[in-house]
Amino acid sequence: MAIQLYNTLSKEKEKFEPIEAGKVKLYACGPTVYNFIHVGNGRMSVVFDVIRRYFEYRGYDVTYVHNFTDVDDKMIKAANDLGITVLDVAEKYIQEYLTDLHTLGNKPADVNPRVTEHIPEIISFIEGLIAKGLAYEVKGDVYYRVHRFSDYGKLSRQSIDDLQSGARVEVDEDKESPLDFALWKHAKDGEITWNSPWGDGRPGWHIECSAMAMKYLGETFDIHGGGRDLCFPHHENEIAQSEGLTGKPFAHYWMHNGFVNIDNEKMSKSLGNFILVRDATNAFGGAVLRFFYLSTHYRNPINYSPDILESAKNGLERLQTAYHNLKHLHSLYAKDEGGKVSEEIHSSLDALQTQFIERMDDDFNTADAIAVLFELAKQMNTYVANKVYNKAEIEAMLSLYMELADVLGIQLDIVQELLDSEIEQLIAERKQARIDRNFTRADEIRDLLKDKGILLEDTPQGIRWRRES
Ligand SMILES: [Zn+2]
Repeated sequence: MAIQLYNTLSKEKEKFEPIEAGKVKLYACGPTVYNFIHVGNGRMSVVFDVIRRYFEYRGYDVTYVHNFTDVDDKMIKAANDLGITVLDVAEKYIQEYLTDLHTLGNKPADVNPRVTEHIPEIISFIEGLIAKGLAYEVKGDVYYRVHRFSDYGKLSRQSIDDLQSGARVEVDEDKESPLDFALWKHAKDGEITWNSPWGDGRPGWHIECSAMAMKYLGETFDIHGGGRDLCFPHHENEIAQSEGLTGKPFAHYWMHNGFVNIDNEKMSKSLGNFILVRDATNAFGGAVLRFFYLSTHYRNPINYSPDILESAKNGLERLQTAYHNLKHLHSLYAKDEGGKVSEEIHSSLDALQTQFIERMDDDFNTADAIAVLFELAKQMNTYVANKVYNKAEIEAMLSLYMELADVLGIQLDIVQELLDSEIEQLIAERKQARIDRNFTRADEIRDLLKDKGILLEDTPQGIRWRRES
């Protein structure tokens, strides 16, 4: 069996064939780091984390590149609003983003390139496009000449003519065609700028991903991904830039995850109907939000609501309880001889592992893969209730269970992070314990918080707390 994945480019499920045997080169578009991310952005990060983990589980060596857009109009506006530099805005929200990814249980990407650290690569990319007649300069701006790239529209299945007739003509622009998009924007007053052959300015949005993907993954790589909203124009423009420059395919497979809806409308910053990942994880925990994401196939839309999150929490807790009960049993038999795994258990575990792989091989069907985990949990519960055990069997079940949960990044230990409200409550309780001179309890609470990575500081205004980073 091989991994099959849905390729937006062909609109079909295709067998995955790596460019280089045993390797996967994966690029997924990252956030513009001007604010906290919302639950829709969080989904994308978890989807591509699981895709990466699954390729690794199947023996591939994965290089995962996930960029940060650290200069654009929104960044400049945020910097002006906050009265700090664009780079300071970026630094702040990159750290907040990485904190969110950690809370969601994502593994760090191999490379997190930032636009502002790749200006020379971007400039030489644009020079290459100008040299090929695919880009032109007007008054310090550089535009991509869309009509010169005959494959334009192949990803989003639109023809240049259709796009042309629907295009809005901006009166204040000097483009040859309304379809042409900016590769380089001339400096405006007070904006962050870099020197270029076309005068001071900064890159447009799309060019960064072409330049950075190519730098870290090569002219042609395996998989390019992102949220569905990036398909057009962002990814279409990336293809035009990259294939226009090299004459080679840019990415073999294009993967897009579905939207997160709220009240059945797409969650987005521009619609103003978004929930921040930070708020959702403070309310439910990162492991629950992740479990919610993975309970639906990545290409389908999901609807966010407190009720659905609550039921995700219950589902995850059932998996965690099965794990804990078996682990407890294991601790009771720790000193036992191993024993032998019965034929029945052996073949049942084999069958479940095979099912799990089949479902994940089928375009990363995490929803069905989770169903396999539930089936295994059920068998574990039956085993625990049976009262005839041996250590080898307990270990065989535990080991497969942990292995499969780890592929999805599902957290089995019930060491849920403390929620903000729980921390406040414990601090209040500790304060009261000290007033009551119950120092044993006060110390217990201090140690508990310390174990959970919560640092307490005495300040003139009372106890302040923060999470260890
Ligand atoms: Zn991108």
